[in-house]
Amino acid sequence: MSKSDKPVLITGGAGFIGSNLCRRLLAAGKQVVCLDNFLSGQRENIAELEGEAAFRFIEQDVVDEVEITPGEIYHLASPASPKDFEELALEIARVNSQGTMNMLELARRSGARILVASTSEIYGEPLEHPQKESYFGNVNSRGPRAPYDEGKRFAEAVSMAYYRKYGLDVRLVRIFNTYGPRMRADDGRVVTNFITQALAGKPLTLYGKGDQTRSFCYVDDLVEGFLRVMDNQQAAGEVFNLGNEGEYSVRELAEMVNKLIGNKAGTRDLPLLHEDDPTRRCPDASKAKELLAWQAAVPLEEGLKRTIEWFKSIG
Ligand code: NAD
Ligand code: UDP
Repeated sequence: MSKSDKPVLITGGAGFIGSNLCRRLLAAGKQVVCLDNFLSGQRENIAELEGEAAFRFIEQDVVDEVEITPGEIYHLASPASPKDFEELALEIARVNSQGTMNMLELARRSGARILVASTSEIYGEPLEHPQKESYFGNVNSRGPRAPYDEGKRFAEAVSMAYYRKYGLDVRLVRIFNTYGPRMRADDGRVVTNFITQALAGKPLTLYGKGDQTRSFCYVDDLVEGFLRVMDNQQAAGEVFNLGNEGEYSVRELAEMVNKLIGNKAGTRDLPLLHEDDPTRRCPDASKAKELLAWQAAVPLEEGLKRTIEWFKSIG
């Protein structure tokens, strides 16, 4: 079987990004194997795919032996919401360390190409702005976000060790805040909280002063970026920031969501969830632009409209 006839494995495929990626790859005619243990994902995300001949679902933990021979692996398994960072601290540390090593070994045994999902969180509380891939970050290794941040930093380190030691065809993507259809309504992240609160006519919960910034990428843009990273022959051993370069304060996001939904309840101030909540975050995505001809195309207001419509459609 040639590499292109072998299935594509998506770990964390029942999650938000993974289930959007499953659909995109199926539409491109690929054989897709989705692996997930539903730690933070949901069966509804893949339920309608389960009847498709080109789709197979394996319910298991990614740290356990995986008995398939994929041609490509998108390794996305890991909870991603700060709401889970303390409750699921050990699961997060384990999936990003042992789980990532297991997938790198599988890629090595299978001769597969692997894309490992990292995060803008590896920049911590950044002292450089916007963040370029060359910036090493400023992370508190002992704080409540550390199992996630350091777990992803370990995932990057061990991926590069496999690249250097075995010549493994591995590529890394640092994902900046991504949103869109198939997020869990109760996942606790800012876009889902704001949309569900506004649709219920409630005030939007601003943690801290609301002047911390984020850059919000619509999921279709991210998935397009993933495909370009995976398909690029020169991307082995490389890391790419994928994110939207527009920077908004959380308060601006709240005002936009309230306006789009027509919610008159305003905002409500609450304390920060974690002392280490980054104050500013915005990608320098010029490397992806130059090497992959990729840039985020969907403006925040348009992406929010689509996401709001999706949440309305599921009730
Ligand atoms: P998600 O929680 O919706 O999806 C993650 C999926 O991984 C879930 O379906 C979950 O059940 C599964 N999973 C977790 N632990 C597992 C394990 N041990 N074995 C098997 N499956 C497991 O989150 P998401 O937003 O889709 O994130 C996907 C990936 O992208 C994660 O690696 C995350 O760290 C990364 N990321 C996401 C964002 C974002 O803004 N959405 C930003 C940065 C990085
Ligand atoms: N946030 C907020 N209200 C909420 C949820 C989140 O003000 O109901 C803030 C949070 O403190 C952070 C930003 O929004 O500064 C983004 O939070 P999210 O959990 O989406 O992801 P993060 O970028 O922190 O990983």
